[in-house]
Amino acid sequence: MRPFVYEQPADISAAVAIAARFASNDEQPTRASAQFIAGGTNLADYMKLGVAKPDHLLDLNRLEDTGLRQIRVTDGGMRFGALVRMGEAADHAEVKRRYPVVSDSLRLAASGQIRNMASLAGNVLQRTRCEYFRETSWHCNKRVPGSGCAAMEGFNRQHAVLGSSDACIATYHGDFGQALIALDAVVHAEGSRGARKIPFAKLHRQPGDTPHVETDLAADEIITAIDVPALPWARRSLYLKIRDRESFAFALASAAVALDLDGDSVRDARIALGGVSTVPWRAKAAEDALQGKTLDEATAQAAADAAFADAEPRQHNAFKIELGKRTLVRALLETREMKV
Ligand code: SF4
Repeated sequence: MRPFVYEQPADISAAVAIAARFASNDEQPTRASAQFIAGGTNLADYMKLGVAKPDHLLDLNRLEDTGLRQIRVTDGGMRFGALVRMGEAADHAEVKRRYPVVSDSLRLAASGQIRNMASLAGNVLQRTRCEYFRETSWHCNKRVPGSGCAAMEGFNRQHAVLGSSDACIATYHGDFGQALIALDAVVHAEGSRGARKIPFAKLHRQPGDTPHVETDLAADEIITAIDVPALPWARRSLYLKIRDRESFAFALASAAVALDLDGDSVRDARIALGGVSTVPWRAKAAEDALQGKTLDEATAQAAADAAFADAEPRQHNAFKIELGKRTLVRALLETREMKV
């Protein structure tokens, strides 16, 4: 492992100031000399593999006392401090009751040990597990801009069918992010240019020609909190995750669904897809296809077809289109049957 300087800033301003001191103007957070760490479950892995190479590691865990480890759930919505651990949010009684899709998405991710360590902000910012990104001997535009994409002609069974580009087809592997984008969450960030709010849907960037630009954050910006707006009908919501094994595996396909029903008729729907896309993926076309319709197998299938209309398969991942559709149909019908 390369040597690095480890620091524990005393407050957010100090953390931002140190990061700003080492960041050049257009530097990406993932390539910055000074990087933030909380649970460390993703960054430490990538430092050991030689993928991430910070010279300064800014440990945020001393900031817990500033409210960054709190969960607040009221009739007006929900706020997660950035340092809340995945397990704490997954097991929170009011999160489970009011937003089961959020609780499910966290409970079905990673292992118990990792959920106890990993912070929510770190979770949403986790980086792809593309095998060619993780192994530094391969060409990878995300790791080394302009170097090529080994996955394009390689084994790409795990890769994305939605939101990809000729430069990168890596999947976004998070689960929590699908629940957040479905619920119109908002991220609070703080940096040297002040505090700002970022709609969760704008936090992650599709790869396009610049796959190394992964988020909208600057190198000196810290996520401080995540807000989920009030949505009383989110009690009828769930997250369905399909994977190669039933524990400690990433999604091959997943669906975050919330339904507002009048009998069997859909007043409103929120749908996001995971395991199939390069970023957390809101399926607006599927939502629109359900509006005002009676929810049955045929309308669920029509919504799933709409969700994958623009899917672009590669050599080994075409199965994800059919799997993704079946996952969404099942998630919709199971959500319909929930007793709320
Ligand atoms: Fe790199 Fe993206 Fe290609 Fe994977 S898919 S090798 S992350 S450029």
